[in-house]
Amino acid sequence: MSNIYEKLGVRTVINAVGPATRLSGGVMRPEVADAMRQASQHCVDMAELQAAASAVIARLTGAEAGYVTSGAAAGLLIGTAACVTGLDPLAMNRLPDTTGLRDEVLIPRSHRNFYDHAIRTTGVKLIEVGIADRFSGAGVRDTEAWEIAAAIGPRTAAVCYVAYGHSLPPLEQVVQVAHTANVPVIVDAAGQLPPAANLRHFIDSGADLVAFSGGKAIGGPQSSGILCGRRDLVSAAALQHLDQDILPELWRPPAALIDRERLPGAPQHGIGRPCKVGKEEIVGLLTALELFAAEDPEARRERWQALMTNLVEACRNLPHAHAQLVRDRKRPEIPVVHLDVDEEAAGMTALELVAQLQDGTPCIHANPSDVRDGRVIFGPLCLQPHEPEQIGRRLHQVLGQQA
Ligand SMILES: *Cc1c(COP(=O)(O)O)cnc(C)c1O
Repeated sequence: MSNIYEKLGVRTVINAVGPATRLSGGVMRPEVADAMRQASQHCVDMAELQAAASAVIARLTGAEAGYVTSGAAAGLLIGTAACVTGLDPLAMNRLPDTTGLRDEVLIPRSHRNFYDHAIRTTGVKLIEVGIADRFSGAGVRDTEAWEIAAAIGPRTAAVCYVAYGHSLPPLEQVVQVAHTANVPVIVDAAGQLPPAANLRHFIDSGADLVAFSGGKAIGGPQSSGILCGRRDLVSAAALQHLDQDILPELWRPPAALIDRERLPGAPQHGIGRPCKVGKEEIVGLLTALELFAAEDPEARRERWQALMTNLVEACRNLPHAHAQLVRDRKRPEIPVVHLDVDEEAAGMTALELVAQLQDGTPCIHANPSDVRDGRVIFGPLCLQPHEPEQIGRRLHQVLGQQA
């Protein structure tokens, strides 16, 4: 099969990891790719396009306003900037110098992760709260809401909350203590779809801003994301992201996104300007989002389950390994396959098996997060219908060599 990557001498990958950025995300639906192509054929006013996007995102999330970013991480960056500056253009111009501004963001210690670089980019300092004692075998406790309440001070710009099924303290409690002190809560919900109900859940729980990835399960362009929440904060984020190289006399931002009356003047290019989003990404994201929200969740799960069932079938009689369809209690919407390797009999570790899949032809990427337990995980989100069989064939080859 010939494709555009062959011309570049780049291998295509069978992606059983999921929409990871290093593996280029997923495969877009034709409707999304076509929408992007159509978008590319005209020029538009980007602020006007973002205002239209805001209306779509607001309808589907229940938030007051929304904005298309170049990813969830970019959403965290401009969302944090919005919490620091509010609608003050002078403060916007000053970032990442936070002199005289509220320059601290609180985060439960267990929520810290590689993506918090996006928050720190604005110039704020992350203040870790509490101790994730449940990490130890003996411990049961994590950060508690009263500890966040006690850590809030005059320099607190926001509380950052990274949403997972196992995140503690509960979001509602964090929102309550933060709002009591008039501090906004930013939720990183990058990978928390499905369930589609989460489009509304974090907003319903009182979050002031929520960041989602567009390139994960939504199925939008890899370099897209959503920031939604309070109108004034989305407006402040937009002002620090949009191209501002415009004469004041010609500046006519759409009122639905930016209320000029509340501003003494226009800010310069803001701290979000390097995270630019193209019209193609915006239109692609909106198209994917509508499709994602409209798809029957049960039909979506069945589509993924069929891929995983086919993979289990293709792994039948595999030597020295057992494949099993698993519906994780924490992520029941996404069925996965666990391949448990009898490492001694196979003469290779699960990690070595992952490496062989990755280094072979076809190039197959599997999820290695449980290899220390002798387990390789395969996920359905980025697989195409013919690929489970290809994975099974390759597994028979690799594990059969040792038999
Ligand atoms: C994927 C992810 C991100 C980054 O999302 P992008 O859309 O790639 O920017 C941020 N936070 C968490 C928890 C994620 O899983």
